Amino acid sequence: MGSKPDNMSSEKLYDILSNIVGNRYVSSDEAVRYSYTRTPNWIRGEPPLIVVRPGSVDEISEIVKVANSHRIPVIPRGGGASVAGFPLSHRVPESILVDVTRLNKIIDIDEDHFVVTAEAGVLLGDLHKILKSKGYHVYSVDVPFYIDTLGGVISGFNGGGEPADVATSGELYHYLLGLKVVLPTGEIVQTGSGPGTNIHARKVIDRTPNTPDLTGLFVGDAGIFGIKAEATLAMEPWPDYFILGGFRTNSLLKAWSCSRKLTSRAPYPYTRLLLLKTNDINEWYVIYVIRAHEREEADFKLKTLTNTCKSEGLSEVNEKEAYSIALRYGTRDIGRTFAPRGMYIYFEAVFPAKYIPETTKLSREYAKKNLGDLELLSKVTDWVEFIAPKLRNTAIFGILLFFKKKSMTPKDVENLIKVWIGYMRESMKWGGFTEAVQGIGTFEAAAVWSDSYKQLVNRIKQALDPNNIMNPGLWGLVMEQ
Ligand SMILES: Cc1cc2nc3c(=O)[nH]c(=O)nc-3n(C[C@H](O)[C@H](O)[C@H](O)COP(=O)(O)OP(=O)(O)OC[C@H]3O[C@@H](n4cnc5c(N)ncnc54)[C@H](O)[C@@H]3O)c2cc1C
Repeated sequence: MGSKPDNMSSEKLYDILSNIVGNRYVSSDEAVRYSYTRTPNWIRGEPPLIVVRPGSVDEISEIVKVANSHRIPVIPRGGGASVAGFPLSHRVPESILVDVTRLNKIIDIDEDHFVVTAEAGVLLGDLHKILKSKGYHVYSVDVPFYIDTLGGVISGFNGGGEPADVATSGELYHYLLGLKVVLPTGEIVQTGSGPGTNIHARKVIDRTPNTPDLTGLFVGDAGIFGIKAEATLAMEPWPDYFILGGFRTNSLLKAWSCSRKLTSRAPYPYTRLLLLKTNDINEWYVIYVIRAHEREEADFKLKTLTNTCKSEGLSEVNEKEAYSIALRYGTRDIGRTFAPRGMYIYFEAVFPAKYIPETTKLSREYAKKNLGDLELLSKVTDWVEFIAPKLRNTAIFGILLFFKKKSMTPKDVENLIKVWIGYMRESMKWGGFTEAVQGIGTFEAAAVWSDSYKQLVNRIKQALDPNNIMNPGLWGLVMEQ
């Protein structure tokens, strides 16, 4: 951390923040503060000093100015669906937690240019619902759809988020056109091609014209460079045709070879592609979704895909079977599909496509050995392996593990977290990348940065955040004062 915070009492801070947002939206109540330390990860943090829920970008700016002038750490928070533990409220307990979920409006749907601007606290599920009713969609995330906020996923996940269609869409940043951000000193800036960067432009409809691409600076930054207040995204017309199906084989190599053949086609003969194996069924499934605007387009894709899978020796399964397997992994409705199965954790990383068969084997061996050594293997109730191709160059590999909650002692949880962090480290040695650029994930990711890159990020952080108040300490950045 940088300079020490001023010694302001929490009562005084409460009054100042209440003057900005109204006392209904500030709380230093213990139960409220504790509730913000929880995430879907098993890691728990210390509660912040105070929680504030601004209702506008100007209110965020006022709060940040107060924090900056008194050197009080600020932790932005969206849905709290961080898979790598929430920002270090356990390291910076004397912090102001800024919950942005009241900024949940859709500001503009521009059907002439296929562009939508929304506030950063909007839930992705809500954004999806409104756009779908008008015949559009944006590439956001498939999961956890009803928890994630727009600003949280752009800040906290690889490439600004991995959409459900990641196999053909790539990451969310491809569709991100501009951001409105409150910098750590309180100034409000706008990136993208709109009036914030170009005095003649009326709105953001493109990302890079006339400017260096500063939007990218704020993608996957874990929220260290400022609080996102608005985002503008490219919209796509909603495709009416939907086909779900699958193939299966007893060999990973066959499933993977089939997937690579499909991936090498242009256009892609699928919209989503996922390889799945569950602990109780000793077979690999290749599950696909085809979305299309015309029946002919869907039929053509289906024919290409079916011919390829059959020529690779895979057997076709019906839609019902494909759906039941996909549900073992699907988290769209976490409460219903995940909660009854116990507590879960993902061992997950992105690898260059060519390494997938080898890293699948290494990952499985790592998990079995390390969980076995700590006597955690016998507590696993469900073990699902998945491979999700991401465009043509990389693929996500993961093992999704469930544990019977009652069987896990506090020591088991501590050990499990160690094994999970160890997986992040090992997978990076095998050529992988961690996806969770949030919480603990930022430390592991930054541990492999070159010195020159670390210096560059540090210099940018110092320039934007001279008092090091915004999510201090993430990425292991220690600032000199
Ligand atoms: C079961 C499960 C499955 C998942 N699957 C996927 C998936 O398929 N694809 C995918 O992309 N993600 C997936 N995720 C990860 C999830 O999308 C990310 O963790 C995302 O960052 C959560 O968004 P949030 O709004 O809850 O952010 P939070 O958890 O609230 O915050 C995440 C980080 O962003 C920062 N932050 C939050 N809001 C802002 C803001 N407005 N401005 C600046 N910084 C901010 C926080 O300080 C924190 O560092 C999954 C998560 C779970 C639990």
